[in-house]
Amino acid sequence: MSDKIQQLSPRLANQIAAGEVVERPASVIKELLENSLDAGASRLEVEIDNGGIKRIRVRDNGKGIEKEDLPLALARHATSKIHALEDLEAVATLGFRGEALASISSVARLELTSSRDDSGKGWQVVASGRDMQAQLNPAAHPRGTSVDVRDLFFNTPARRKFLRTEKTEFNRVDDTIKRLALSRFDVSISLRHNGKGVHNLRAGSGRVEMERRVAQVCGPAFMQNALHIDVERSGLRLWGWVAEPAFSRSQADLQFFYVNGRAIRDKVVSHAVRRAFADVLYHGRHPAFVLYLELDPASVDVNVHPTKHEVRFRDGRLVHDFLFGSLHRALADVRPGQREETEQ
Ligand code: ADP
Ligand code: MG
Repeated sequence: MSDKIQQLSPRLANQIAAGEVVERPASVIKELLENSLDAGASRLEVEIDNGGIKRIRVRDNGKGIEKEDLPLALARHATSKIHALEDLEAVATLGFRGEALASISSVARLELTSSRDDSGKGWQVVASGRDMQAQLNPAAHPRGTSVDVRDLFFNTPARRKFLRTEKTEFNRVDDTIKRLALSRFDVSISLRHNGKGVHNLRAGSGRVEMERRVAQVCGPAFMQNALHIDVERSGLRLWGWVAEPAFSRSQADLQFFYVNGRAIRDKVVSHAVRRAFADVLYHGRHPAFVLYLELDPASVDVNVHPTKHEVRFRDGRLVHDFLFGSLHRALADVRPGQREETEQ
């Protein structure tokens, strides 16, 4: 190899960037569904084959993409969601980096089809070659967008090696769908695997409909043992459902935590939750919960990691103490004999 400096080809640059966001079928689906939600979709349909390794298809009824914008949607650093650095301070959308579609189409065979109206007519774009040249063709499509992703990592064997069995990849996809389903009760969502229906969750934002969805996602036994909580203090609100200690788990598989609607993993949060459950659970048992923390968007930074699973709280102590206090009190209330003084 000569040491002459050369610009990377667009495809190669995208493949390198893909390393950060596209790990497996589940991460592709997460990105596609977030795009659909950002487009205002109220119905999300996901179909996968072979755990998503062979094929992923996400269809939405969102606002669609203009013909002229379709090639741009596949280009790197092209986004309709932010225009200036200041916009980052208050991103309301799930995406904003403009990397997902470019990354995915550099490591799989991706077709993007979209329509902006009810004419039944739309356009389809695919990007090919080292320059990721976009080709546009007319295509039939209802209002909304479909993304078809086949043969993930077909051209990057080193990455393909890290894919696990169909079953494992399916489980990750299923988990991604569940996590998303519990973040947007107002959106209907379905999943089909190898032609068979797995989930078909109807939209509805009333308490009854929400609890029906929680039961569908976490199982009816969770809901039967769940305490509903809703606590508000110093600008923080925590609401959702926690299972009574009797319904503990051998794995941490029923733990859903959202900060301002985003599913996150965070040290401050898990520490507070663990401590709140510490004296009601046997060693080695895991709590089950579906919890939503709401706080001023300005007091939490979501732009920490490309996959946006992580957040940074401006006042971690306050959040920690609020979570611990709220959960501890809710759990104390169900332990007769150990009841704490209840605040009014
Ligand atoms: P980002 O979401 O960070 O903007 P993406 O690569 O995921 O970057 O998407 C690029 C652009 O394509 C988006 O900004 C949006 O304008 C458009 N787009 C992608 N998916 C959809 C969709 N399902 N519906 C409407 N527009 C979409
Ligand atoms: Mg996106």
